[in-house]
Amino acid sequence: MPVLGQCKLCGLDQAALQDSHIVPKWAYKRIRGKAIKGNPHPMHVKDKRAVTTSMQVTDFLLCSNCEQRIGRVDHYVSTQCLQTNGTVPLREAPQVIWVSDDRNFALLDTSSLELDALCRFAISVIWRAHVSAMVPQIDLGTNAESIRAYLSGETDYPSSVHVAVQTYVEPDGHGSLADHTIILPESHSNGDATAYWFLVCGLHFEVSVGIPADESILELCLHCGQTKGVLVGSWRESGAFQNLVVTASEALQARRR
Ligand SMILES: [Zn+2]
Ligand SMILES: [Zn+2]
Repeated sequence: MPVLGQCKLCGLDQAALQDSHIVPKWAYKRIRGKAIKGNPHPMHVKDKRAVTTSMQVTDFLLCSNCEQRIGRVDHYVSTQCLQTNGTVPLREAPQVIWVSDDRNFALLDTSSLELDALCRFAISVIWRAHVSAMVPQIDLGTNAESIRAYLSGETDYPSSVHVAVQTYVEPDGHGSLADHTIILPESHSNGDATAYWFLVCGLHFEVSVGIPADESILELCLHCGQTKGVLVGSWRESGAFQNLVVTASEALQARRR
């Protein structure tokens, strides 16, 4: 029996709702792929601690038309993040345009990438988390309606929303644990803005809504930034992220014992 209800994106009533993934289904397959060794389970962050789970987070949110609309950008991102052969195309194709003095971070040129699709994907995952009761930590507040209208195609890109993408490597430049990790959406405040972020198969998406105190996202924003670069860095130099990955690795090791 189909689940009937109102589509959260287009508002269609009595629609046969799809069991939509918050983070796309392919991501779960990739981190379990045979060719790669990685975290067998995605992570949630709960009370600032990483918690692993084998559960794929889904909810009845969208009519089939809207599910397809969202699926198109999901597909593009699936071609840019971790592949079954272990490569991360987004990180490998573009040219390096800047390297930090300590050589821990570099900026990749994004002119060969579909930036609209990357932005739309990032915003849609955060919005899916917002409308689903399965991810209670995400609340878009008064911005939810302008974001919904953009994702449904009714309006243009919402000007208060900025999107940045980062990716992580080991100090030798090779892939990192982050490639084999899913972290469900989280949020923190940044001045008058709220920053939402998640990690899927090596790509760390940050969506800032409002006027941020830390303006670095405005420079790198894939929609309106001057530079529109993707930051690639050693995850060992990225404090918050490192803590998360180390906590998760320890949790996984403890489970195996
Ligand atoms: Zn719909
Ligand atoms: Zn922007």
